[in-house]
Parts: sequence; C-alpha cells; structure tokens
Amino acid sequence: MTAKIIDGKKIAEGIKEKLKFQIEGLTIKPCLAVILVGNNPASNVYVNMKEIECTKLGIILKKYCLKENLLEEKLLNLIKALNNDVHVHGILVQLPLPSHIDEFNIIEAIEPKKDVDGFHAINMGCLFIGTPKFEPCTPKAIIEMINSTNITIEGKHAVIVGRSKIVGNPVAQLLLQHNTTVTICHSKTHDLKEYTKQADILVVAVGIPHLIKEDMIKEGAIVIDVGVNRIEDITYKKGYYLCGDVDFEKVINKASYISPVPGGVGPVTIAMLMSNTLKAYHLIENGKAI
Ligand code: NAD
Repeated sequence: MTAKIIDGKKIAEGIKEKLKFQIEGLTIKPCLAVILVGNNPASNVYVNMKEIECTKLGIILKKYCLKENLLEEKLLNLIKALNNDVHVHGILVQLPLPSHIDEFNIIEAIEPKKDVDGFHAINMGCLFIGTPKFEPCTPKAIIEMINSTNITIEGKHAVIVGRSKIVGNPVAQLLLQHNTTVTICHSKTHDLKEYTKQADILVVAVGIPHLIKEDMIKEGAIVIDVGVNRIEDITYKKGYYLCGDVDFEKVINKASYISPVPGGVGPVTIAMLMSNTLKAYHLIENGKAI
C-alpha cells in the first residue's frame, strides 16, 4: 500500500480562498497585532509567513518587534493597550519568549476575545469542557487534515504522541469531541510502539526526527506528522533541510494517508490563524462576549 498524501498547502489554499472572499465583503478590515520579542530566527520566519498571508487575505497585520531584554512589565503594558484598542481584533504573542518573561502571565493578560492562538486559560477551559471558542491553530489544523480524508473517525482509536499545552493535549480533546477513543503518549510512556501500532489515527507532535518507524504503524493508519526538525546539511542550498517526526519514506508504504513535512500541518496552521482572526473580528465588532 502507498499512502495518499494529505496536502497541507492545498487544504490551506482552499480555506484561505473562502476567508479572502468573506474579508472582501467587510468595510472595516480585520486587524491582527503580532508581538515578537527578541531575535529567534525560527520566530522571525514564522512571523514573516503570517505577515505575507495576512496581506494576501486583506487582514491588517500590526507587527511589534521588541528587544530581547524587554521588561515583562513593558510587554504587559503593550498587551493592555492592544486589548483596549478597538481597531485591533486579534493579538498574538510569538512564542517562545525570552526566559526572563513569564509566558503564563503574558498569555493571561490577553483579552480572551482577542486570543487568536486560543492559549488563554479561559479559551483552554472552554475547549476542555467541550464548548471551544478559539481552538488553538495547530490542533484545529490537524482535525481539518484528518477530515480531508473523508474517513469517518467516530469510534476509531486515535493515538497522540506528545502532550504539550499547544498541540498534544488540545488535539486529544478535539479528537475526543469527534468521538474517537484517545490514547496520549509522552516521554515517560513505556514501549511507545505498543500504543502506536494500535492507532487508526496517529498524531505525532514531539520534535524528534524519524521517531516513528514503519514497524510502529498499523497497516492503513492515518498519520499526521506535526514535528518540524531542522537538520543541518551543507549539501542543501540553505545549509539545512526540514523533516518531521515520522520516517516518511518508509511509513508511506504502510499508512493509508500521511501528511508531509514541510507542506503538511504548517500551512494549515497559518490558515487556521487567519480563520481565528476573522472569528475574533466578528466577536469584537458585534460586541459579543466569550
Ligand atoms: P513540546 O516540546 O512542548 O512537547 C513535546 C512532547 O513530546 C512532550 O509532551 C513530551 O512528553 C513528548 N516526548 C518527548 N520525547 C518523547 C519520546 N521519546 N516519546 C514520546 N513522547 C515524547 O513540543 P510541541 O510544542 O508540542 O511541538 C512538537 C513538535 O511539533 C516540534 O517539532 C514543533 O516544532 C512542532 N510544531 C509544529 C507546528 C506546526 O504548525 N507545524 C506547530 C507547533 C509545533
């Protein structure tokens, strides 16, 4: 069996096309404020990608690039100002933050209605009690990608490898709400293979290149590879290449569907950010509470 590729770029284009059409019909345009602290190269790339996509869709992006040694209090003041700015609909603080800044304090300072990443405790709480308002972008993207296969997932066994706040944990909740049976594995799980081999749907969000080998996969599984790993290699033009957590070349022979890296979860995650920004716009402009 050779798996079909879940083409993240194509899925993202479809979502963005619909969003663009909706945004074209608005007289006031949605505005997303993005805060970047310090000079993390990966964060710079992610923010630039978000800026390009916002521009294409007609979303105004206000970018705040702040120095690495910024005081936490200054960042809190900026968030407060953006919370009160009626022209700003969404606020995103690019993570990770420098170690002297408390990430939790910063996320909690964002007005939940403008929390397009969905990381605020109120939004996480809503997600966990089954009434999500802003679903975090990557978990939301993963569900969209699984749904793109048109395979009924109700009653299937989903195994998630990774239990982070931003990917593993919330995607497990979303999959539960889609009536799958969910197993979460993590760094302390004994005999990972015993679990992954049982997965009808396998979501891997760890950050270890090629952690998941062919013999860890059930025949015909849907495999979503969230991991993004940068491998230094001077034979590549950029001096490195990107790969996921799944041994794609081998696993493709056993799975029914598989998402590639790059070109898989990443582009759909950005499309979901645009979708959440439009949702925030409607909440703010129509004065609705969360
Ligand atoms: P994280 O470091 O916060 O969490 C990693 C998780 O993996 C932890 O829960 C840990 O318990 C688990 N883990 C570590 N070693 C393990 C092992 N040997 N076996 C099983 N589980 C193990 O990471 P994260 O923020 O969830 O990101 C995970 C990966 O996904 C990273 O490569 C990141 O770059 C990528 N990512 C991609 C996107 C995207 O849009 N494409 C978005 C977010 C994260």
